[in-house]
Amino acid sequence: MKALEQAILAKGKVLSEDVLKVDSFLNHQIDPALMQAMGQEFADLYKDAGITRILTLEASGIAPAVMAGLVLGVPVVFGRKRKSVTLQDNLYTADVYSFTKKVTNTISVSKDFLDKEDTLLIIDDFLANGEAAKGLLDVANQAGAKVAGIGIVIEKGFQPGGKALREQGYRVDSLAIVSSLENGTVTFA
Ligand code: 5GP
Repeated sequence: MKALEQAILAKGKVLSEDVLKVDSFLNHQIDPALMQAMGQEFADLYKDAGITRILTLEASGIAPAVMAGLVLGVPVVFGRKRKSVTLQDNLYTADVYSFTKKVTNTISVSKDFLDKEDTLLIIDDFLANGEAAKGLLDVANQAGAKVAGIGIVIEKGFQPGGKALREQGYRVDSLAIVSSLENGTVTFA
């Protein structure tokens, strides 16, 4: 997606050979117009897939997922990383090792908001090693839901997550695929 690639080039910061910081429009401050365009793009890709719900992960998956949900006219449910008094039982849970935080979070989704009648579009901000996607797929499988595909804002194509998911037969659609972050430079596939 051209507008996303332009935002990455103009505002992204290469923190290391495998970490891209996009805090100014996706991970901290959010650019609503860009989110809306990305939501439209995901919705166009999945308009005939019979999506009934979008499943994402807090926090940074929520903005693009909500925009896609708005266009597709379906609810968006996000995996929560911390339990709370209002979220104690009746849960699907999965462990997700965080690439950026280097800790394992148990993500939870209420059984009230996911079931075997669902056809899901899974959305997340980044795809690196595929741990977050794996956790969300685990939750979807526990619910007996069908997964139509996985929509990613930025896939780092030089890390193994995308290849592994596609080899498992999942449809993966990434709005931007970064092929390298070497020498402090973003290169797209
Ligand atoms: P994975 O689970 O695929 O290894 O990594 C994806 C998750 O880690 C995403 O949910 C995202 O929050 C985070 N992540 C992975 N790589 C990056 C990166 O280069 N930049 C940022 N900002 N987040 C990343």
